[in-house]
Amino acid sequence: FLDGKRALVTGSTSGIGLAVARALHGEGAEIVLNGFGDESEIAGLCEELSATHSGADLTDVSQIETMMAEAGEIDILINNAGMQHVAPVEEFPVEKWDQIIALNLTAAFHTARLAVPHMKQAGWGRIITTASAHSLTASPFKSAYVAAKHGIAGLTKTLALELAEHGITANCISPGYVWTPLVENQIPDTMKARGMSRDEVIDKVLLAKQPTKKFVQPEEIGALAVFLCSQAAQNVNGANWSMDGGWTAE
Ligand code: NAD
Repeated sequence: FLDGKRALVTGSTSGIGLAVARALHGEGAEIVLNGFGDESEIAGLCEELSATHSGADLTDVSQIETMMAEAGEIDILINNAGMQHVAPVEEFPVEKWDQIIALNLTAAFHTARLAVPHMKQAGWGRIITTASAHSLTASPFKSAYVAAKHGIAGLTKTLALELAEHGITANCISPGYVWTPLVENQIPDTMKARGMSRDEVIDKVLLAKQPTKKFVQPEEIGALAVFLCSQAAQNVNGANWSMDGGWTAE
């Protein structure tokens, strides 16, 4: 049902973004990929999804502007690229703070401001941002990430109100822990910050948060993104949709 619609999915060379790109492609959308990675793997993804790819670093405004100009008219904007860093606040590297705010929050403002003119003209658009359970609640040692994701929740609500009368919806999806490289890579730092073993971090920090005791699968987020693009979701606007096994219900 997305034939003729073009979707830009940021951070789609891995994890959640790739699953969302696959799900939207499955419904007929034309896909623009973004993200870093091995050149031949990215070429393989472009072939699989009949997609184009931008290697723009979204911490850099001028690279975002170039990506948006080259991508053309975007009907579905999936702001998904993100990164994490785990450290006590007094040791939190200042450059990591700046990088996380730039990528996890500011980039979504820039892509939205550049995508909205076409969406308004078309009278239809979807802006979906991968927020996090950390847009609703906090965990220690994640100051930049939690601040950025709370910011995404606020930006989403504002976009929803501004654009509602133009047939454009803005929502965010807030997963709990999804088994992707982003989660796997934070295990060593969490072991250090909390003095725990790898298994203890998985059981006592990660899955302890999720009452279902299961990691969310990237494909589940792809399916929700497809729903949010559908006609049936035309009145889902400004929502922060949790997919966290019940974590934030506590
Ligand atoms: P991931 O590390 O598997 O993928 C991140 C993607 O972003 C990759 O494609 C990477 O190349 C790209 N990327 C990284 N830095 C970039 C930059 N500067 N410019 C452009 N692209 C860049 O991570 P993931 O787990 O799939 O996370 C995707 C999103 O989901 C993030 O916003 C993350 O905060 C959010 N999220 C993840 C989880 C989880 O448990 N994995 C939970 C909640 C929210």
